[in-house]
Amino acid sequence: MTEVVRTESEEETAGVARRLAGQLPPGSVVLLTGDLGAGKTAFVRGLAAGLGIDSEEVSSPTFTLVQEYRPSTGAGRPAPAEGRGEGSLLHVDLYRLQGAEIDDLGLDELSEGTAVVAIEWAEKLSVSPPGAIRVEIRDRGGDTREITIGADSDQLAAGSGTPAIR
Ligand code: ADP
Ligand code: MG
Repeated sequence: MTEVVRTESEEETAGVARRLAGQLPPGSVVLLTGDLGAGKTAFVRGLAAGLGIDSEEVSSPTFTLVQEYRPSTGAGRPAPAEGRGEGSLLHVDLYRLQGAEIDDLGLDELSEGTAVVAIEWAEKLSVSPPGAIRVEIRDRGGDTREITIGADSDQLAAGSGTPAIR
């Protein structure tokens, strides 16, 4: 299954990601590809919002290789189960890493948990986790971005009957 959508602003890109987040089973891996400034981090911000996480927490990780964001426990929200990772988001940015450094991150173990894992610069991975959702963002000039979301048909919440993107 592949969906292509165009957005005209950062907010719109985040909105696409927010809707996608609602369809992601726990433990989903989202592989983000695209040039610097394409909007990968903006997309991760939207994923966070869709998981009930304060998206202002999401920035490009500089020194931390893997950033974990947990759902906020605001009014009306149940406290997340401690330590299980459910509902949380792991944000990985491979921009500054290469080869062995990437292997040492333990991405395999990360993607075995229940947290959603979003990986920027996923083109640097030599092997991609099975069943991952691929998000490619292309700059089409100005504020226009073309976002291609690809997943095996059974990776997104089954039975919703609604396409990931409209
Ligand atoms: P990346 O993580 O891919 O390097 P960022 O998300 O950090 O990119 O930055 C994207 C930049 O492009 C931001 O400055 C954002 O405001 C701008 N931008 C303009 N139009 C869009 C759009 N349609 N979608 C996402 N970002 C956009
Ligand atoms: Mg980024």
